[in-house]
Amino acid sequence: MQIYNTATHRKEEFIPITPGQVKLYACGPTVYDYFHIGNARAFLFFDVVRRYLEYRGYDVTYVQNITDIDDKIIARSLEEGIPFDEFAAKYSRAFLEDAAALGIKPPHHQPRATEVMPAIIDLISQLVELGYAYEAEGDVYFDTARLPEYGSLSGKRIEDQKAGARVAENTLKRNPSDFTLWKNSKPGEPVWESPWGLGRPGWHSECVVMSQSILGQTFDIHGGGVDLVFPHHENEQAQAYAISGKPLANYWLHNGFLNIEGEKMSKSLDNFFTTRDILTQHSAEAIRFFFLSKHYRSPIDFNREIIAESERAIDNFRNSLSDIDYLNLPADEGYLQELESFEAEFIRAMDDDFNSAKAIAVLFDLNGRIRNQGLEPSQRQNAARMLVRLGSVLGFFQNLAAELSSSLPDLSIQLIELLIAYRDQARADKNWALSDKIRDDLAALGITLKDTPTGCVWSHKE
Ligand code: AMP
Ligand code: ZN
Repeated sequence: MQIYNTATHRKEEFIPITPGQVKLYACGPTVYDYFHIGNARAFLFFDVVRRYLEYRGYDVTYVQNITDIDDKIIARSLEEGIPFDEFAAKYSRAFLEDAAALGIKPPHHQPRATEVMPAIIDLISQLVELGYAYEAEGDVYFDTARLPEYGSLSGKRIEDQKAGARVAENTLKRNPSDFTLWKNSKPGEPVWESPWGLGRPGWHSECVVMSQSILGQTFDIHGGGVDLVFPHHENEQAQAYAISGKPLANYWLHNGFLNIEGEKMSKSLDNFFTTRDILTQHSAEAIRFFFLSKHYRSPIDFNREIIAESERAIDNFRNSLSDIDYLNLPADEGYLQELESFEAEFIRAMDDDFNSAKAIAVLFDLNGRIRNQGLEPSQRQNAARMLVRLGSVLGFFQNLAAELSSSLPDLSIQLIELLIAYRDQARADKNWALSDKIRDDLAALGITLKDTPTGCVWSHKE
């Protein structure tokens, strides 16, 4: 698999730290409003990265944080006269609702910055002790001049920033590129106690703690929109290098920006759309289709015609699938083999830096087969199954895919559930050898078990 790595500015073979496992972190929302349609691009893209890596057999741990303390949250909550924590809780809930409405699979972990405050203070204290950070009047800054790796992710150099000396308004900083790790409190702001007095952390330290505490010191993939490369991700990477001499992540992925009819989306230009608004007029699948029909690194332009076109494409798939009964069909071996070439093409596209636009072209080809009356009904049914299976890897047809995976004869389902109950008993008895054997034997039959906080869930891959 090839992935474009922002840190090296080229496509690279993807090699996870631990074979078979992927640790993935994507920056989540800052919850000061309903998230906009540009944010939706980032959230949907990393949902697809996670789904595709899972489909390729990796055991993925996906962490997406919620930034629930930030200047904008404080400013807006003061404007609206709502306590900041209530305000952040309201928009965190709205984020979870809208992400679910978009068909985004919940990440395995969704840490919030305010929940990890002691660990953030600990990180900043270590940076001070190691000489990479300094205190000035209750603020703490990262000393970028101390770190040779500073600028390596974004390609920005400290000297370039010195040249633009207008940045030097803040006289507490030693270098213009130094960034805030801890901010002294102002009256009326939420505060936490720290060795530097009452204050609150900077955004860049929050993400370091939320990612490393779950995924380890260096993990596989860190992502977000291209606007985060500098300063946010550069400044996260700097803290990791300062503490351990190692990068925070091996691969850095960034999605391109969404513009509205060629312009940057902004409230002042009156072209600002929340995802919640768009979802009242368009289906989640059409929004997903709109984004995935373009390569994730290219900028994308949002306008009414394009989204209407996406809606038509999705309707077209839905109509084909509703015209044909593809559940419980007797498999036509020869034809299934023929369909393998479609799956191979799909994988080739997605393995090439998540080329979802090419992968969608494979879905169109399958759709053509379903509609081709010249083919045998079983051939068309098989094409429909493949369409649902591959489409669901990109997050389409989620309900149909669930139906398909539960279209095993009832007795098989009961037997799988019986084996899971036996495995639960084996685990309760600490009989790990038996519980592992049950899991592995089921895996050999294409049935994957996954332990979640609410119990074991299974899935079936044909
Ligand atoms: P924020 O809540 O602003 O921190 O953004 C959440 C995610 O959305 C981040 O990964 C951003 O990089 C991404 N993002 C913000 N604006 C856009 C946009 N117009 N197009 C694409 N991604 C965006
Ligand atoms: Zn972040």
